[in-house]
Amino acid sequence: MDKTVVLYPGLGVGHLTPMVQLAKLFVQHGVAVTVALVEPQVELASFSAVVARAAATNPSVTFHVLPPPAPAAEARRERLDYLRLMDAPLRDFLRSLPAVHALVIDMFCSGSLDVAAELGIPAYFFFASGASFLAVFLNLPSVMANMDTSFAELGDSPLRLPVAPPFKATDLPKVILDNDEGTKAILRMSERIAESNGILINTFDALEARAVRALREGLCIPGRPTPPVYCIGPLVTEGGDKKHECLEWLDAQPDNSVTFLSFGSLGTFSKKQLLEIAVGLEKSGQRFLWVVRSPSSDEQSIGDPLPEPDLDTLLPEGFLERTKDQGLVVKSWAPQVEVLGHRATGAFVTHCGWNSTLEGIVAGLPLICWPLYAEQRLNKVFIVEEMKLGVVLRGYDEEVVKAEEVEAKVRWVMDSEGGRGLREHAAAEKSKAVQALNGGGSSQAAFVEFLNNL
Ligand code: UDP
Repeated sequence: MDKTVVLYPGLGVGHLTPMVQLAKLFVQHGVAVTVALVEPQVELASFSAVVARAAATNPSVTFHVLPPPAPAAEARRERLDYLRLMDAPLRDFLRSLPAVHALVIDMFCSGSLDVAAELGIPAYFFFASGASFLAVFLNLPSVMANMDTSFAELGDSPLRLPVAPPFKATDLPKVILDNDEGTKAILRMSERIAESNGILINTFDALEARAVRALREGLCIPGRPTPPVYCIGPLVTEGGDKKHECLEWLDAQPDNSVTFLSFGSLGTFSKKQLLEIAVGLEKSGQRFLWVVRSPSSDEQSIGDPLPEPDLDTLLPEGFLERTKDQGLVVKSWAPQVEVLGHRATGAFVTHCGWNSTLEGIVAGLPLICWPLYAEQRLNKVFIVEEMKLGVVLRGYDEEVVKAEEVEAKVRWVMDSEGGRGLREHAAAEKSKAVQALNGGGSSQAAFVEFLNNL
C-alpha cells in the first residue's frame, strides 16, 4: 500500500456507518486507512455497537479512538463546539503518522480543514447526505445574503432555487429556520466546503441527475468555484446480523408482504403518536414490522440514551395480542439493512435520513416518507418529486400523523395499482444503483478518478 488516508467521521451513527463503507472501498483499492473516532459525550449503545461490529468485520481498517479534550472543555455538549475541541487531539494524531495523503472529513468537521492546512494534508469532504441537499446547502449562504426576509417568515410558500425542485421554506432544516447563532455556524460550514480539495458524495449520478449537474456546472456557489465532486455511492452497510428474532419472523412471511417502519438512530414519537400508528397499522390489515422506541422527554437532548420501551403501556390495549399474526414490534433497534434486504419486506416507512433512504433504494423498496429532523424534509421532497420513489405521510409537519393516514398510505403502496407502479419504479432504481457500483459504472469510475487525483 503506497498511500494512506485518514477518515474523520465526527459524531453520530449516521455519519460513522457510511464512512466505514468508504474505508472498505479505499482498502479494496490498495489504500491504507485509519478511521479516527470521536467518542460520543454520552455512552450510546448504538455507537459502540457500530464501532465494535465495524472493527470486527473489517480487520484491514484501523480504528483509532482520539483522546477526549481536556475535562473542563468536555463539559460543553453542543456538537459543533465539541468537534472544534477535538481538533487538537486530531492534529496530534495526524502528526504521529509517518505520511498522510488525504484527510477525508464529515460535513460537521469543517474546523479540521485548518488542521489539514497546517500540516499540508489535502482535505476532502465525505458528504453524509445526498447531492440534492448538498446543492441546496451550498446555495443557501448566497440565497440568504440576497433575501430581505428570513426563511421562517416565508412559511409554506414555495422556494425556487435554480439547483433544486421547489420546496417549502419550512422544509429546510430547523437550524436554518432558527436564524440565530447556530444558523450562522451552519452557513459557515457550508461556505467552508468550497475550501476543500474535493467532495465525495454518497449517491450515484442517475439518482440525482439535476443536482449532480448543478454541482458540476458550478451553479451552487455563485462567484466561487465548486471543488470537484465525486459521486461514489450508494455505500451502504452489508447485512451481517442473521440472528435477530425479527428475521426469523420475516422468514415465515410471504414475499414482498411486510411494511417495515423504522426512524433512524434518533427518531422518537410521543405516546399519542405511537397509538395513532398502531391503530393505522392494525386497520390496514397489512403485515408490518415496526421498531418502537420510548418517547423522549423534554429534559432529554437528542441522542441521549432511552430506556427500553414498555410496549404494554405505550401501545393500545390488546394490540400485540390482536396483531400477533399480522405484525411484529421490535424494541428500540432492528437490523435494518437485513430487514430491508429480506424477500418478505415490501415497503419502508422511513424518516428519510440519507442512509435509510439509500438502504431502501438499494433494497428496491418504495418509500413512505415521514421526515422528522435535520434535512429529512428536504430529502422527502427529493424522494417524492425528483426520484419518484415514494409518497408522503400527510401530517408529518403537524402534531400527529393520523391513524387513517397511516392506514391509507400503507394500503395504497402495498395494495393498489398506483402502489404497484411505485414498487416497479423502485425495483428499476435498484438495478441502476447496482450498475453504478459495478465495473465501468459511474460511481466506480468516479472513485478511480478521485484516487488518481489524490
Ligand atoms: N438503523 C438500524 N436499526 C434501527 C435504526 C437505524 O440499523 O433500528 C441504522 C440504519 O440502517 C441506518 C442508520 O441507522 O444505517 C441511520 O442513519 P440515517 O442516515 O438513516 O438516519 P440518522 O440516524 O442519521 O437520522
